[in-house]
Amino acid sequence: MSWVEVAVDRAVGPLNRLFTYAVPKAWEGDLRGFRVRVPLGRSVVDGWVMAQRPDPPPAMDHIKPVLAVPDPYPQLTPALIELAFWVQRRYLAYLGQVVRAMVPAAVRRGGSGGSGEKWYRPGPAPSARAPRQRAVWEWVTERGAVPAKALAAAFPGAAATVRRLETDGSLVAEWRRPQRTAAIRSGPRLNRWQDAAWRAVRAGGGTWLVEGVTGSGKTEVYLECIADHLRQGRQALVLVPEIALTPQTVARFQARFGEQVAVWHSGLGDAERVRTWHAVRLGEVGVLVGARSAVFLPFARLGVIVLDEEHEATYKQEEHPRYHAREVAEARARLEGATVILGSATPEVETAWRARRGEIGWCRLPERVASRPLPTVEVVDLREELRQGNRTIFSRALVSAVEEALSRGEQAILLLNRRGYSTFVFCRDCGQALRCPRCAVSLTYHAEDQRLRCHYCFFENAPPARCPTCQSDRIRYFGAGTERVVEEVRRRWPTARVARADRDAVVGREGATRLHQAMTAGAVDILVGTQMVAKGMDWPRVTVVGVVAADVALHLPDFRSAERTFQLLVQAAGRAGRGDRPGRVVIQTYNPDHYAIVSAARQDFDALLAEELRFREEAGYPPFRHLWLVEMRGRSPEAARGQAEAVAAEIRAAVSGLEGVEVLGPAPAPVARIKGWWRFHILVKGAEETAVSQRLEAVAARFCPVTVTVDPHFML
Ligand code: ADP
Ligand code: ZN
Ligand code: ZN
Repeated sequence: MSWVEVAVDRAVGPLNRLFTYAVPKAWEGDLRGFRVRVPLGRSVVDGWVMAQRPDPPPAMDHIKPVLAVPDPYPQLTPALIELAFWVQRRYLAYLGQVVRAMVPAAVRRGGSGGSGEKWYRPGPAPSARAPRQRAVWEWVTERGAVPAKALAAAFPGAAATVRRLETDGSLVAEWRRPQRTAAIRSGPRLNRWQDAAWRAVRAGGGTWLVEGVTGSGKTEVYLECIADHLRQGRQALVLVPEIALTPQTVARFQARFGEQVAVWHSGLGDAERVRTWHAVRLGEVGVLVGARSAVFLPFARLGVIVLDEEHEATYKQEEHPRYHAREVAEARARLEGATVILGSATPEVETAWRARRGEIGWCRLPERVASRPLPTVEVVDLREELRQGNRTIFSRALVSAVEEALSRGEQAILLLNRRGYSTFVFCRDCGQALRCPRCAVSLTYHAEDQRLRCHYCFFENAPPARCPTCQSDRIRYFGAGTERVVEEVRRRWPTARVARADRDAVVGREGATRLHQAMTAGAVDILVGTQMVAKGMDWPRVTVVGVVAADVALHLPDFRSAERTFQLLVQAAGRAGRGDRPGRVVIQTYNPDHYAIVSAARQDFDALLAEELRFREEAGYPPFRHLWLVEMRGRSPEAARGQAEAVAAEIRAAVSGLEGVEVLGPAPAPVARIKGWWRFHILVKGAEETAVSQRLEAVAARFCPVTVTVDPHFML
C-alpha cells in the first residue's frame, strides 16, 4: 500500500492544502506529477500528485482511494512540482489553482499523449498470475521500448491485454516523432559588446540583465547563448510579450535553429497546443518561443530562459495566480540549474537596481550595431504650440518631420497612447464626460460605427442627443483616438498611404502579419497606431516617429506611471532609424519638464533610474519595500466600504508585531467601479516578504471576496 499527497483542482482552503489518498495496487509506482481522479466530499475531482508518502498517514480510516490515473504520463515534471509550491507561497494562490495555470486546459482534459508514433516502454511488472499480461510485458521489457504497431504484430488478438497493461501502468505509452536534428546556422559576427556579453553570461550562469539600447543587437546575444545550450543537448525558452510574438520574431529564431523551434501563444488551437506541450516534454523542441504562460511548460532539460523586453507589463498575470513571469523564470531556473537572460533597453527599475547592486549579472550594449546613431529626439511643448495659434493635433515640428519623410519616400509612425487618450464625449455646459453606467470610467467614442463603448466591460450604446446630467444638447467629442488622427492625416496629406494599427484595426496574428508585410514592402507611408507599434518591430524604412501625446499616462495614480511613460517613449523612439538612414523623433507633451519626458528625450535610462530610486525610497515602493494590494468588492459602496474597513482592521491587528509595516486605506480604488462592483483598496508596505504574506493570507482566508496581489504591477 502507498499514499499520495494531492493538490485538488478546487479552491478549498487553506491555500496550500494537500489531500492524502491511498493508491490501489493497480497504480502503484512513482505517481508524482500524474493527474489523478479522487473523491472530495461528495464529488469526484481531478488533482495532481505532489508527493508520495512512504508511511501511512496518522488517521487511516478517513483516507479514500485514488479512483483513476487517467493519463500514461505525468503532467508535472519534478521541477514543476517544486515550482508550484513556490508560486503558491509567493503569490498567495491556491495550490490547485497554481497547477491548473501550469497545465493547459487541452492537456488537462487528458488523452492520448500527443501526436506522432505510439511507443510503449515497460512500467512495474504485472501480477505473475496473469500469464498473458506477463508475456507481453516481458517482451517489451526485453526491448526497452517498442512501437505499438510492433507489439500488435507480435501479439495478434492481444489488444485487450495491452489496454489492461496500459491502464494498470505496466506499459507506459509515449508518442515519439522522428528526432529532428536540425543544424544550427551561424549568425553575423558579433561586435565587441555582444561578444563580451554572451561570454560573460556563459561563464557566469544565474540571472543576467542584458541592457542594450534599441537596435544594439540584443537578440543576437540571445541566439548565441541559445546555440550554446542546444549544443549541450539542453532546451531553451524564449519569453516575449504576447504583443511582440509576431511571425517576424519567430522567423528570426527559425532562420537560426530551423525545425526545432516551436511557438506558444494564445492563438494556438487545442490540437497544436497538445502536440507542442508533449514535444516540449519529450525534449523534441529545442527552442520554444512563447508568451508568459510558456514559463510553465514541462521542459525535460531546460538550459536557458530568455525574457525579451523584460520590463513589459504583460509579464504580470492579472488573475489568480497573479504571478510575474520573470520571477517565476528565475525560480524555475534555480530549480533546474538553468541560466536566465533578461533583455531590455529600458529595464524595469527593480531589475536595473538588482543589476547595479550586483545581485544579478549585468552587461551593457551601449551602441547600436554598425555604429548607427540613435535617433535625434525633439520635445515639443503643446501649450506653447497653442499659444502660437496652432489648434491642430500636430505641432509644426511634427508636420515638418513627416513631410521630410514623405518627400524622401521613407515611413513615419504616429503613436498614440490610447489607454489614456481615447476619444470621449463630454458636455460643454456641465463639463461631465459620458461614463459607463457600470464602471467608473469614461466611454470611448468609435467613429466607425458611431457607438460609445466601455473598454472595461464592453457596455455600448449610441451617443445620446442630450447630456444625461444636465439635459444640455451641447455635447461634443473630445480627444484624439487613432481614428481621429488618421482623419487628420488624410486631410493634411491626401496622397499618402495611411494604415491604422490598434486592437480594433489589427486583429490577431494574421492582422499583425499583414501589417508587417505592408510596412516591409513600403506599401504604407504613415502608420498611426497605439503601443502596439512601439515595441520590438524592426522596420528599417521608418525614419520618423511622432508621439502625438506623450504624457497622457503620466498622471495616472500608479507609482509606475513615470517609468511606463519613459519606457514607451524610448521604445517608440527606438523604431526610428533602424536602417541605414538616421531617425528623427518628435515628442509632443504638456509636461516638457517632467523627468520621464526629459530623460526619454535624451534616452538616458540612468537619469530616469536615479529619479525613480529617489522617489521610491522616499515613498516606500519597490525595490525598497514589498507591496500587497488588497482589493475588496461589493455590490453597493456601503457594503464594499464596510467590508474593507473590517478587513483593514484585521490586517492592522495581524501585522501589529512586525516592524516597518504600513497599512494604508481602505480607499476607493482609482477605478472605483468595474462591471457593477464597487472596489476598495488597502495597500500594505513592508520590507520583509514572508511574515507579512503569511499574515495577510490568514486574514484573506477569513473574508470572502478579498484578493491580494503581491508586488502588483497595476494599481488602478
Ligand atoms: P535589439 O534586439 O537590441 O533591438 P537586434 O538584435 O534586433 O537588436 O539587432 C538590430 C539589427 O541589427 C537586426 O537587424 C540584426 O540582424 C542586426 N545585427 C545585430 N547584430 C549584428 C552584428 N553583429 N552584425 C551585423 N548585424 C547585426
Ligand atoms: Zn451636461
Ligand atoms: Zn463598463
